[in-house]
Amino acid sequence: MTTTAERGALRDAVREFLTATSAPAEVLAVQDTGLGYRPEMWATMAEQLELQGLLVDEKYGGSGASIGDLVVVAEEFGRSAACSPFFSSSVLTTLAIADCARERWLSELLPGLAAGTRLGCLAFADADGWWQAGSETVRAQPDGDSWRIDGRADHVIFGHCADMIVVAARTEDGTGLFLVEPSDASTLRVRQPALDLTRPLTTITFDSAAAQRISGTADISEALSRALDKALVVQAAERVGGARRCLQLTTDYAKTRNQFGRPIGTNQAVKHGLADLTRALEPIAAAVDVAAHAADTGAPELPALVSLLSVAGTERYLQIAGETIQLHGAIGFTWEHEAHVHLKRAKTDQLMFGSSVWHRERLLAGVLATGAAFEAPARADEPARLADLRTEVRAWLADHRAEGMPLEYAQEPFGYEATDAEKRWTDLLRKGRWLCLSWPEEHGGRGLGPVETLVVEEEFARAGLRRPQLGMGETLLAPALLAHGSEDQKRRFLSRILSGEDTWCQGFSEPETGSDLASLRTSGTVNGDELRITGDKIWTSNGARANMMFLLCRTDREAPRHRGISFVLVPMTDNGIDVDPIRMASGDRGFAQERITDARAPLTNVVGGLGNGWVVAMTTLGAERAGEAATQYVGYRHELDVLVERLDKNGRLGDVIVRQRLADLVVEVELMRAVGSVISARVAEGQAVDELLAIDKVNWSEYHCIFGSTALELLGASALTRPEGDGYQLDSLQRVFLESRGRRIARGSNQIQRNIIGERILGLPR
Ligand SMILES: Cc1cc2nc3c(=O)[nH]c(=O)nc-3n(C[C@H](O)[C@H](O)[C@H](O)COP(=O)(O)OP(=O)(O)OC[C@H]3O[C@@H](n4cnc5c(N)ncnc54)[C@H](O)[C@@H]3O)c2cc1C
Repeated sequence: MTTTAERGALRDAVREFLTATSAPAEVLAVQDTGLGYRPEMWATMAEQLELQGLLVDEKYGGSGASIGDLVVVAEEFGRSAACSPFFSSSVLTTLAIADCARERWLSELLPGLAAGTRLGCLAFADADGWWQAGSETVRAQPDGDSWRIDGRADHVIFGHCADMIVVAARTEDGTGLFLVEPSDASTLRVRQPALDLTRPLTTITFDSAAAQRISGTADISEALSRALDKALVVQAAERVGGARRCLQLTTDYAKTRNQFGRPIGTNQAVKHGLADLTRALEPIAAAVDVAAHAADTGAPELPALVSLLSVAGTERYLQIAGETIQLHGAIGFTWEHEAHVHLKRAKTDQLMFGSSVWHRERLLAGVLATGAAFEAPARADEPARLADLRTEVRAWLADHRAEGMPLEYAQEPFGYEATDAEKRWTDLLRKGRWLCLSWPEEHGGRGLGPVETLVVEEEFARAGLRRPQLGMGETLLAPALLAHGSEDQKRRFLSRILSGEDTWCQGFSEPETGSDLASLRTSGTVNGDELRITGDKIWTSNGARANMMFLLCRTDREAPRHRGISFVLVPMTDNGIDVDPIRMASGDRGFAQERITDARAPLTNVVGGLGNGWVVAMTTLGAERAGEAATQYVGYRHELDVLVERLDKNGRLGDVIVRQRLADLVVEVELMRAVGSVISARVAEGQAVDELLAIDKVNWSEYHCIFGSTALELLGASALTRPEGDGYQLDSLQRVFLESRGRRIARGSNQIQRNIIGERILGLPR
């Protein structure tokens, strides 16, 4: 297993080499040459970096690297859009041989590929760019001790100059792998005028060409399919590198190009556009990591992950390359600018190696058939401590399943009021210590990190059961108290959140203060050992049911805007707080307005000290969300399953268009899963996850709107009828459709989140 540091060193070395050998002007020059690559660069690469042998076993002269290692190298190739047969020879052909050929041929062919002295190509694709077992366009017939092959292979990358042609052909016994002599007159190679000049394509026609079977007598369909999937993970990594390059170029340009007297990046249209590209890219990068891990551990979900990357990875690379042209203006539309190279590579990736329709179907079928998200263990190499925890949760759930409440929503509804049965279930969970999992043990939690919490969430979801959270007390206040509270505050308030004695609401927004929270007017005046609070709060979720409010008030009018604000824990009963419930678009009285007149709170209820409320508030709004971000896909996946079940019942699940639309929803949930998995792994290694967390809120809330709307559309007119009952009853999907609109606004509206991504992550000017 290669360490993070070793991979970092490999990345640096490859970047340095490609920066020197494949600068944008050089790429444009090389792509127009007859060969389409520079043999001297190829030779130097083999000599100095030995990249050609990465995937080759040490006993055949390679270094036996993993797909995870290759991903690092491929990102760099993608970044520079280098004209090189690296992917076709050192990845695609090498993997096909390594996974499908007999020992004799491994030792005959792999050393030359590893040394870079031979250049391989793999002829496997039909006119649609893909290979399907049983429908190969090339057929092989035995001819004495040897074979003859006929047919046509399309889209052979660097096929025009390869000196080793490996062919996947149909035989009487299934698919076999063959070696064809390039100089054979019955093998006709015609280089096609390709859209993407960095990866020349060739059509090879075999007219009874002499061939040797390099695979055994058995059908190699499965092994070849796996080899191709591994190659596609590497190709997906190239796209991540290309997309990162585009985003970097465009961000740098937005910082320095001035129009109307200021950098174009100060404009929100540009800033938000770049923020959207960032949030499009990061989940794909996470999915590449997860897919590489699946490839290296032989995980069964590899085909689904590869299809996910083929659909979403290509679309997003296209989007990013396209916007790179747009945000550069006319200069981005010139031949000299590298943006079009990436645009062409992105489109080529989308059309080669399987249509996006086929990949969507493979993804959907794969995910639905296996219920992959909840299969245990989630990772084949799960450490013992996680496996033990999994066993513990399962045992507890098996004993208590009868009283369990079914999983329903990814997000608890705003106006949610627990039934008696739900309260009993919460009591049981409290006794079993399955609430507030991340809290330290001394405060009643289990001190679990995101990885462990994910295990618990997965097991509850597998059992189809809900693991409730204790409202804003648990989700917003507790992280703030744990980070900034005094020992006395933690002792007093955490235990009452856990016991259910206190129900909390958040008093931040005011009638005149929304996104610009620092403009708040509610005042707090110190009076002896108390704070006296007066002002108006609004949009307070759960305001009508809560007995405690954590609020922000201004305690120092002379201080700069973000100073002089205090974060205070205020009792709501008999304390000068009038609460008026407000009805939401979903029909629920889920939030409220409060008129606060001289409410009192002891100074010991000020968290983080007087005047330090801004920092504390930021903890509740954004930070420390790793656990939530790592586990949330479980709920979204459940909602998707509900939709699939209803579509199955109403006979729509077989419809091709419905399935394609469903696959797009699966893409988002599986990307969330990948992001969650990467967050867990990075937190466990002590690495920063700030960027992933910053994009998380926009991604889940935008997805939820799309899901809610698409779900009703796919269900058709039957979704127009609400359940019987008092008031404005909704079924779960109707509720998601409506409530998801509010979540794009709550907890920092998505426009503000885009500003944050643009300014804090991309460093764009204000
Ligand atoms: C369902 C729901 C639950 C809520 N629960 C709570 C709660 O429990 N406690 C609480 O305190 N608050 C709560 N809120 C309030 C929420 O925090 C605010 O609605 C949010 O901060 C936006 O403020 P606003 O509604 O005043 O909109 P405004 O700030 O007036 O914004 C109006 C529109 O302009 C956009 N906008 C504003 N400024 C900018 C800018 N600089 N750049 C680009 N676009 C901008 C916004 O994105 C929005 O689309 C809740 C809101 C909702 C919808």
